[in-house]
Amino acid sequence: MAKIKMTTPLVEMDGDEMTRILWGWIKDKLILPHVDLKTDYYDLGLDHRNATDDQVTHEAAEAIKKYGVGVKCATITPNAARMDEYDLKEMWKSPNGTIRAALDGTVFRAPILVKGIAPYVANWEAPITVARHAYGDLYRNVELAVSGPATAKMVVQYDDGRTEEKDIFRFEGPGIVQGMHNLDASIESFARACMTYALDTKQDLWFSTKDTISKVYDHRFKDIFAEVYEKDYKAAFDQAGLEYFYTLIDDAVARVVRSRGGFIWACKNYDGDVMSDLVATAFGSLAMMTSVLVSPQGYYEYEAAHGTVQRHYYKHLQGEETSTNSVATIFAWSGALRKRGELDGNSDLQAFANRLEQATLSTIEAGEMTGDLVLLSTLAKKQKLSSEAFLDAIAGRL
Ligand code: NAD
Repeated sequence: MAKIKMTTPLVEMDGDEMTRILWGWIKDKLILPHVDLKTDYYDLGLDHRNATDDQVTHEAAEAIKKYGVGVKCATITPNAARMDEYDLKEMWKSPNGTIRAALDGTVFRAPILVKGIAPYVANWEAPITVARHAYGDLYRNVELAVSGPATAKMVVQYDDGRTEEKDIFRFEGPGIVQGMHNLDASIESFARACMTYALDTKQDLWFSTKDTISKVYDHRFKDIFAEVYEKDYKAAFDQAGLEYFYTLIDDAVARVVRSRGGFIWACKNYDGDVMSDLVATAFGSLAMMTSVLVSPQGYYEYEAAHGTVQRHYYKHLQGEETSTNSVATIFAWSGALRKRGELDGNSDLQAFANRLEQATLSTIEAGEMTGDLVLLSTLAKKQKLSSEAFLDAIAGRL
């Protein structure tokens, strides 16, 4: 059979450790036999990032802006131990952080649902996608320990000489104080990315903050979302039969737990950090979470939500068999290929992406799965496969 042709390349970003091994197998076994794959390839493996002084990460981000769609393998974010292990010139920044900053993007994480692996919340039938605002708040805070009687003040000095000042608290004894900030521009980008993605995936959008308590800070988030929605998205949401819905975070939590799923939940930075882990765990497994970075301009970068599975890699290097779950990485590829197909009007490529996902899910539903899923699955007949045998089983169905 003739291979499916592509007109525009995908930006392919290779990565590290066990996921880099899976990356090669996924391409060889699942994609290259069926697709005349065109990619613009960037090696974000730590050795190559180090050799290029991390230029390769910046180049990859620019390429996503050029072509619109990228797919990324998990990568090591260096820490002290990695400095020695890889003999690094510098403790290079997280590639995800660099790419997110370059694209001004928002990360959407969604679970992959499969029969036999039931969410802990019985009424969740469809995925819940958590969108986390990835700028400011607690993550860019300034903190002080106050040692004794003191008055803490918040002061804003404008460049034109004006100042605004408020008392935070009069301390009679020791305590702590913190300052946080956010930017209208960043909140607006976040709102646009969420609304674009809701339309794109035909899901309702929920947004929650604590504006009843934070009457200036959180209220600004609520207002910016409302303005962006009214001005640029309401008509499209109405036409698509979708809803944008704002509510307090406490109410949102209660509604999320009672819901059947199938919507996007936009959260402020800290809420998103906590809620995305909660939702991932409640749906079953980190190895079954996909992640897509969406820029307000509509650039897309697909990846697995998990890391490089270091422990399995060391086993692999020692010649031991591994049983690493490749589902989220396969879905990163299928997501990127489908989006490329949509943008290029390439229905064969879209259909292939759907078949790839179907073959993956039906392999697991037939009881053939990796070790992590064997522990979770309620199927009566199930079998633990090696990393490679699992991919072969999918390839057989494909
Ligand atoms: P990890 O996600 O690789 O592993 C966390 C735990 O989940 C481990 O116990 C692992 O065995 C299990 N796990 C995760 N994915 C799995 C899979 N596909 N199959 C089976 N089990 C799986 O995170 P970590 O160990 O904290 O980090 C390892 C490396 O990954 C670090 O260097 C870190 O910087 C990097 N990392 C990268 C990304 C990314 O590129 N998006 C995200 C997180 C961590």
